[in-house]
This record gives sequence, structure tokens and C-alpha cells, in this order.
Amino acid sequence: MTALRRVHLIDTTLRDGEQAAGVAFDRSEKVRIARLLDAAGVDEIEAGIPAMGGEEAASVAAIAAAGLRARVTAWNRAVPADIDASVACGVTAVAMALPVSDRQITAKLVCSRADVLRRLREAVDHAKQKGLYVSVGAEDASRADRSFLLDFARTAEEAGADRVRFCDTVGILDPFSTIEPVAALVAELSIPVAAHMHDDFGLATSNAMAAVRAGASFVDVTVNGIGERAGNAALEEVAMGVVRILGLPVGVDASKLTSLSRELAGISRQPLPPWKAVVGENAFRHEAGIHADGVLKDPETYEPFPPESVGGARRIVLGKHSGRRAVLHVLRTMGIDATPAEAAELVARLRDLKFPDRGGCAVEAEIARLLALIREKRRSA
Ligand code: MN
Repeated sequence: MTALRRVHLIDTTLRDGEQAAGVAFDRSEKVRIARLLDAAGVDEIEAGIPAMGGEEAASVAAIAAAGLRARVTAWNRAVPADIDASVACGVTAVAMALPVSDRQITAKLVCSRADVLRRLREAVDHAKQKGLYVSVGAEDASRADRSFLLDFARTAEEAGADRVRFCDTVGILDPFSTIEPVAALVAELSIPVAAHMHDDFGLATSNAMAAVRAGASFVDVTVNGIGERAGNAALEEVAMGVVRILGLPVGVDASKLTSLSRELAGISRQPLPPWKAVVGENAFRHEAGIHADGVLKDPETYEPFPPESVGGARRIVLGKHSGRRAVLHVLRTMGIDATPAEAAELVARLRDLKFPDRGGCAVEAEIARLLALIREKRRSA
């Protein structure tokens, strides 16, 4: 039996994630996040941009010196000065980016395709002379001319690059349009292909998984999906999707995903919506009567995977949609054995509450009322 193809996660929370508007980490926060990512089993950590100098360079140096098991990469423009700044931070791996779409080449770099290939050769050559592991990023690859993208990738490999990164920089692909260009790159190269997907249409995770199906063996992710504009493919979503849906190993300890997500939400001051996939507050909360009843009988009736597998917890909560069985269950967890009639009364009262019930105050008040009534009855009985 052949071993299942291993998918490697590159976490770029500390680089692309920090590029999200309004997010900045200080050095101790960066080191803390890197240690948590390492403990969770992420294969590679893109730690920052040494060419920025100052605290940013010091943070990358601190992470490179932290003795992590994960490979630590620094992000660079494809220029020798940036690569020298990375070497000065003590990293042994660099990611360097060059635009490959005509729009970005002419509007941003103001040069020609031939100039891009020349810069690429020079920068890769410079980095390889320093003994670095080199990932070459094809920026805006999803909007690039397909044959130029292949020229670019082949040039990178011939110059000695160790990996090529396909970037859907403005998040315009869908899973179906992801397959062909990524598969073409994988077929063209003998070095691994990485996928860097943005979430502008809410498809980053789906596109990252499509890229894996197309043969990409590395996927860029960020914790909670934070990043430029609408963000990146989320670590927790890709990790669970690749393992549970595609059936391929990613080497991540999934039981750490919920705590990692909460920690990052706190440090970045970017709270999660309750409905966030995998790690959101509501991911394993059940209120609707039929669902709560089903989950109490067999959790698999309404859960795709057990909450414990991602370090989360199942909760039955009471509200407008509750049924009797859920009410009895919740009261039992509070140490109260209610009668079916008492449960039915609470169900009726919850149904009549004025919603929305911000923060569940009205529900709690109704539960407290019922509990008081039950205690009263039991005392006089
Ligand atoms: Mn990006």
C-alpha cells in the first residue's frame, strides 16, 4: 500500500495575516503565535518581512532563533537587498514574490515580462548562493497569461528554486477554475507547487482544496483566515477539510485548533463571528428542537465531526426553537430533574419570548423563573 500524499501547511498569519488592515503584532506576540503554530504541527511559518527593518526584522530573528521544529521563512521582494536582510535575521528559507500578470507587471513594476524573468533569475541565484531554501511566488498568477506563468515557473526551477507558489492574489478563482492552471504548473515542474488563495468571494478554502486535488502539495493558510482585504484560506478550515474531506494527512494536531483560533482572535483584536466554520462559538451549539433531540441521541445526526477533535465542545442551548427533550437535558445538567409538564411549560414560555434576545438574558430569566417555581413546589410538597 502506498502512503497517502502528505499535504504541507505554510502558515502566513505573521506576514499576510498581519497585513490585514488594523492588525499589528509586537515581537513577543509574534514569537508567541509562532510557538503555538509550531506546537500545532504547522510545517512552515512565514514569519515576516526583514526588509522592513526595526522591530519587524528583530521579530523574524527572534522566531528564527526560537528553536522551532517548523521551517521559518522570511518574505522578500525579488531583490538582493531584501534577501540579505533575511539572511541577517538568521532564517534558512526565503519566499520571494514577483508579479506575473501583465496588469501588475506594467502598472506596478513598470517593466516587461523579460525583465521579470531576468529579475527572477538574479534573485534566485543570489539566494541560492547564500544557501537558502527558496520559494518563488508568482503573484497574481490567476490573472497571468498561462504560457508566461509556465515560462516563469520553469525559469524559477532552472535557476534553482525549491518551490513555486501559485497566488490567486485578488481571490478571483473558483474551485473549478483553480484546477487547470495549478495542474499545469504541477505537470510542468519537478519541484513542489504551493497555493496561496484569497477570500474575496468567500472561496479561499475551497480553492485551496481544489489546488490540493490538482496536485499542489503546499497550501498557504492563516489562523482564522485573517489577511489582506477579505483574508486568506483559514488554517482550521483547510486542515480539517484536507483531512476529513480529501482524506489526506496534514500533520496538524487538530485538537489545538480552537484554542489557537481564540488566542489569535484575542491578540489580533479581530473577534470571530459565532458562525465561523470549525472554531466559531456556534460551531457545535444546538438550539433547534429537532437538532438537539437528534444530537442527544447520536451526535453524528447533526455534526460533521466531533467537537473534541478540534478542541471544541458540544452545547445544547435553550431558546425560541427548543424542544422538551433539550429543556429536560439542560435542566438535568443544572442538577434539576424536571417533570415533562414542567419542561413543556418552559418550552411554551420560550416560544412566547420577545426575540431577539441579546445575550440570552430573557432565556436565562425564564429558566430562573421555572427553577424557582420547581423549588417552591418541591418545598411545599
Ligand atoms: Mn496574499
